[in-house]
Amino acid sequence: MKASIVCVGTELLIGKTTESNSYFLADEMRQYGIYTHHKLIVEDNLKQMVPLMEIALKASDIVVVTGGLGPTLDDITREAVAELTGLPLEINEEAKEHLVQLMSSFNRNFTKNNYRQVYFPKGSKVLKNNNGTASGFITTVNDKMIVVLPGPPREMKPMFQEQVMPIIQEMSPLVFVKRQLNFVGIGESSLEDTLGELMTKQDNPTLATYAGYGSVSLVVTSSGATEEECQERLAPVLKEIEEKVGQYIFSEDKITLEEILQKQLLEKQMTLSVAESCTGGQLASKLTALPGISSVFEGGFVTYSNESKVKVLGVPEETLKTYGAVSEETALAMIKGLKEKLETDCCISITGIAGPGGATEQKPVGLVYIGVNVLEDYEVHQFNFTGNRGRVQNLAVLTAMNLLRK
Ligand code: ATP
Ligand code: MG
Repeated sequence: MKASIVCVGTELLIGKTTESNSYFLADEMRQYGIYTHHKLIVEDNLKQMVPLMEIALKASDIVVVTGGLGPTLDDITREAVAELTGLPLEINEEAKEHLVQLMSSFNRNFTKNNYRQVYFPKGSKVLKNNNGTASGFITTVNDKMIVVLPGPPREMKPMFQEQVMPIIQEMSPLVFVKRQLNFVGIGESSLEDTLGELMTKQDNPTLATYAGYGSVSLVVTSSGATEEECQERLAPVLKEIEEKVGQYIFSEDKITLEEILQKQLLEKQMTLSVAESCTGGQLASKLTALPGISSVFEGGFVTYSNESKVKVLGVPEETLKTYGAVSEETALAMIKGLKEKLETDCCISITGIAGPGGATEQKPVGLVYIGVNVLEDYEVHQFNFTGNRGRVQNLAVLTAMNLLRK
């Protein structure tokens, strides 16, 4: 099947907003064997929109349109689809009910303009928006599908994944099975290099990498007539991935590293505390974002200056003077001091140069020492991360959690 993507919005054409919806949509559909063979970006203008949508509809089986479903008068995508298909706009009572409830939960009145948002081309399937006011819709003409979604990515993405993808999958004679593997400690390009031909010569399953801010995900999708067939296709590829880069995998699907760590600490009934210098509390922040973490996470200290390392953690002044704050010795003294203070089963310390300043020839930006203590065992690991301040900090946090997980 072929798809076209039409992104509507003047803001996308005047250098104000970076168009990203089509990037997501093309990638999602590709994993299910639907190839996008063109994308169009068009201003909020009926005269421009209708002919472009017509081109898209002629060329493809599926046209995905995003944007222009808002309540304001410049949002005219529904009118454009009505004109394109010749289908009149009709009110949808369910969508109206949903919008009335939503507006009252925001303590806002249902305005005349909001009324426009509950009209859809006759016969359309309405898509519920759990994250905003604009419902989406699917209009079918001559066996072709026009899928219309709201512009804001945080509304568009879940609507597409939860409500549109199942319909597209049902239309396809194929079954798809998808696995997401999450990596830390290896960059996107090294991952692709190491996987080699598996990455480039493989079309079933397909492999796609996504770089996070410090972590990388690899999505492996296979298609076949049955689920068993898909699993059979996946198995040898997953095995090869495991053999080549298994040591960097920390989780599958949407599970985060901190969730894995929390689970492990809970299972082992162990407590954790942290002492952070260059990450300024980001590790503690990641951990405390998890509900229920209090049963394993005791607390920690942000000891950014030398003085605070001495005063709070009891790092010997001599150690700082001789080896510097960013050193194996200081990282070790930090976990030892932390252990004494909070008496947790596990302790982590992080000290490094996040940049852009503070570097010397011997100690470049990205040099980070991570101390890990588990019961009686103390270890310090040295890393040379690359990237800007934010990336170095994020890598330090992820790597610290990964070291403890192991
Ligand atoms: P609403 O106006 O109710 O938010 P809408 O469907 O009318 O919904 P738009 O007004 O078109 O959506 O877009 C709202 C915002 O969503 C835009 O200002 C922009 O920030 C973002 N957005 C829209 N389209 C895209 C796109 N293709 N890529 C990235 N961001 C987009
Ligand atoms: Mg708009």
